[in-house]
Amino acid sequence: MKGIAASKGYAIGRAALLSTSEIELDRTRASSVEAELEALDKALAESRIQLEAIRDKAAESIGEEEAKVFDSHLLLLEDPEFMGAVKDKISGEKMRAATAVSDATDFFKTMFESLDDDYMRERAADMKDVGHRLVRNLLGHGEGSFKRYDETVLVAHDLTPSDTAQIDRNTVAAFITDIGGVTSHSAIMARSLEIPAVVGMKTITETVEEGMWVVVDAIAGEVILNPDEATIKAYREKKAAYAAEREKLKAYRDVEIIDESGRKILVAGNMGSLKDLDLILENGADGIGLFRTEFVFMDRESMPTEEEQFEIYKEAVTRLTGRPIVIRTLDIGGDKQIPYLPQEPELNPFLGLRAIRLCFEHEDMFKTQLRALLRASAFGPVQIMFPMIGAVGELKQAKAIVESCKAELRAEGKAFNPDVEVGIMIEIPSAAIAAESLAEEADFFSIGTNDLIQYTMAVDRMNPTVSHLYDPSNPAVLKLIEMSIQAAHNAGIWCGMCGEMARDPTVTRKLFDMGLDEFSVTGSAILELKQRISGYLK
Ligand code: PEP
Ligand code: MG
Repeated sequence: MKGIAASKGYAIGRAALLSTSEIELDRTRASSVEAELEALDKALAESRIQLEAIRDKAAESIGEEEAKVFDSHLLLLEDPEFMGAVKDKISGEKMRAATAVSDATDFFKTMFESLDDDYMRERAADMKDVGHRLVRNLLGHGEGSFKRYDETVLVAHDLTPSDTAQIDRNTVAAFITDIGGVTSHSAIMARSLEIPAVVGMKTITETVEEGMWVVVDAIAGEVILNPDEATIKAYREKKAAYAAEREKLKAYRDVEIIDESGRKILVAGNMGSLKDLDLILENGADGIGLFRTEFVFMDRESMPTEEEQFEIYKEAVTRLTGRPIVIRTLDIGGDKQIPYLPQEPELNPFLGLRAIRLCFEHEDMFKTQLRALLRASAFGPVQIMFPMIGAVGELKQAKAIVESCKAELRAEGKAFNPDVEVGIMIEIPSAAIAAESLAEEADFFSIGTNDLIQYTMAVDRMNPTVSHLYDPSNPAVLKLIEMSIQAAHNAGIWCGMCGEMARDPTVTRKLFDMGLDEFSVTGSAILELKQRISGYLK
């Protein structure tokens, strides 16, 4: 059966169905409103104690970040609208407390679900989890239970965060569920616990029987029911090989890569939104080499305010706990558009009003972002990066705008790091060729090979009919990269790479030999890259 691989790995074990006894609600009128309100208070207190214990346990076994979901559960217990609705039902409609909680939960859950927003849908799941806990406590029901086998594969319609936090990785080899997606809390926790999970299997709870042997292939997102001996053997081998590979890679999580000359090489992560940070941090990134902030602007109806941007950048900086974070200013135009900033049609959008050029046209928008970035720099080592710089004049112009934002913030008494590093992408051939002069004005370079290759080879990066001409190893491309790195080093600044080429194993050695200081790649590629580069040091 097919599903979605939510947490990678393999497991071979016996199916244990999570039993959550059906709760029967009493819909007759309550005989005493006071008694119901008192019962509600008691259940609230009990729930609070349980949730605090689960949160502490989760913080210890899974991580502070994942444990935060239980803080939001605790807040829901005090939510005036939710509790107000429950109490109104008890006092006004003489409902029994459990029934009132259940109805109010359903109401808010349905409301959250109807909003077309992933975040609100997650809140719906939290609502359901908290509501169930309260109802169970009011009626004296225990938590869901399941049988333990030597290797248990937990099967459930859905797993709430509370259920997931109770899972012990020593007793549960994997879990599979009918519903859920990659970003559901239970999927995130499964990844942190490194328990293989396949979710969104639709009808697995109806198909699988208690105690049945199952193979969970949470790489392919498949579950095999009643596997034969040969299948079991094949998967035991896959599982062992996977575990050995993971173990080897994990050893690189905290490895610092320093070559014999004392040069430190960073392997950093590329992010588009805060959601990407979990995976990046889990994989031991030395920092963020590219935060593509246009994604902060894209999925919305109106321009994010300075405050909204500040909160996002600040959270990213804070979560990096002292590691550097390169935040790139807006790169809109080309293939990326924002609905509330319509652009005139262009014959060659990739050669048109894109990135820094567009920001110069909309200076207010640019300044709003720069102010938010500067304010975030008070919380950690932010490095501001401009995209699509083609000439020194553009860099000087952008830097002058940064200085004017600093002056404004200073006058307003708002905190920022006055020495915040300001660097540029090298992604236009003219920038690589003029790298010597740009290096005098920039604090760092990051080579954007996705565009650099397209502009050097005159090959549209989006056009599949010419993609065979898009060649990272072309000598012209390599030469521009080498020139950029050397110009940076001659000027005493660092040079990284944040285009896809940074994770291409066929060129890692070349880039290392050229002296690249930082490789910035997608989260899942970090450990392998750390392993590969570490191998060059011996
Ligand atoms: C690049 O051009 O290599 C790059 C990293 O930027 P983007 O892919 O966002 O254009
Ligand atoms: Mg680019």
